Amino acid sequence: MSDLVSIFLQLLLFKLVAPVTFRHHRYDDLVRTLYKVHNECPHVTRVYSIGRSVKGRHLYVLEFSDYPGIHEPLEPEVKYVGNMHGNEVLGRELLLQLSEFLCEEFRNGNQRIVRLVEGTRIHILPSMNPDGYEVAAAAQDRDISGYLVGRNNANGVDLNRNFPDLNTYIYYNEKNGGPNHHLPLPDNWKNQVEPETQAVIQWIRSFNFVLSANLHGGAVVANYPYDKSLEHRVRGFRRTANAPTPDDTLFQKLAKVYSYAHGWMHQGWNCGDYFPDGITNGASWYSLSKGMQDFNYLHTNCFEITLELSCDKFPRQEELQREWLSNREALIQFLEEVHQGIKGMVRDENYNNLADAVISVSGINHDVTSGDHGDYFRLLLPGTYTVTATAPTFDPETVSVTVGPGEPKLVNFQLKRSTPPAAPKRRGPNSGHRGRVLPKKVQPRAARKKEMMVKQSQRVPA
Ligand SMILES: [Zn+2]
Repeated sequence: MSDLVSIFLQLLLFKLVAPVTFRHHRYDDLVRTLYKVHNECPHVTRVYSIGRSVKGRHLYVLEFSDYPGIHEPLEPEVKYVGNMHGNEVLGRELLLQLSEFLCEEFRNGNQRIVRLVEGTRIHILPSMNPDGYEVAAAAQDRDISGYLVGRNNANGVDLNRNFPDLNTYIYYNEKNGGPNHHLPLPDNWKNQVEPETQAVIQWIRSFNFVLSANLHGGAVVANYPYDKSLEHRVRGFRRTANAPTPDDTLFQKLAKVYSYAHGWMHQGWNCGDYFPDGITNGASWYSLSKGMQDFNYLHTNCFEITLELSCDKFPRQEELQREWLSNREALIQFLEEVHQGIKGMVRDENYNNLADAVISVSGINHDVTSGDHGDYFRLLLPGTYTVTATAPTFDPETVSVTVGPGEPKLVNFQLKRSTPPAAPKRRGPNSGHRGRVLPKKVQPRAARKKEMMVKQSQRVPA
């Protein structure tokens, strides 16, 4: 064999096997890996911290964008959160793999990834609970196999039961009228949540996130809101019942995109459970209160689902490559899902951008708002919709829009100031500056009631 051919083969082999290393990453290793990716792709990444854990570990985020650190109008923001339960570690490793993959493929000129990075701002938080992880990893090293060791943060709190409960308000508002989105935080919310939760809440309030997934383990299923059923507890029993959001069909589709792109999630039978299509409404599996996905939907513009990715919460190192290969396509496709529905600018007659304008879709009792730059994003399935933009002191503008299956449709609004002496729009109680009183739209509960059954969940929560 000539030297040249031999070198070529070695290079090829190196390219095939060298880049990714499949191992569990302790905290220092995780931080090194994030900075390594940043150093390899400095022009399209940024590492930033959203705060610290109880033990002072940084909650690091790796951002991918063609302009890191900058929101470009009409480019949606999307996020992945891993390892919220410290002992559910696959998401953490998958997000590190994803980071390396996005960087490498961008550098290789992979057109799909280049397009994704140039058209989307992607935020990756591999570990929301670094303290819990260290406890879980140490137990793993000593072969202590407690199913829940390391689940909680260093104060012993389950972070996915630690967000302000806004479901109670939305169920009240659905019945009695009131805001259907951006429900306000309780006044003393900072005193009621853990440092990790507080950091995440401040994070999701400071970016106009559109789409998100929260990566867990202990089952294999894509779980969508609501997580909390209308009658969460009855006489000490958890009441399990389908609790759909007004965006139920959209959430089901988002969950199916992941489950069908995943190696086996869509098959339904996993870890001794069966979920048709590999998806489930959160509350119809088991009702939980103060979870993160419900909070995202009720307090922000962000649509979040929860991905349960492995039966074994702490898979053996040898499993990691197989897991990566069966999640890779799903992780990419889910990010691409942010590019659907409608988006556009909301401006006044002088082309000033209007932040916090409300975008309502007729028939879907959940509004979204424009961000600080006047741009809005409304995920929608293909169909024809009547869409209205409103802002205080402006006349509403209504248009009919047909949404196709491909790219999002661009729908800009230019609002005219209400002619004086028109009375200013009344704001509802607790609606905040973003709220707006909507006509009462109560969804029939009869069908929901029928499905209800009382059952106490036997399983250890995922
Ligand atoms: Zn979990």
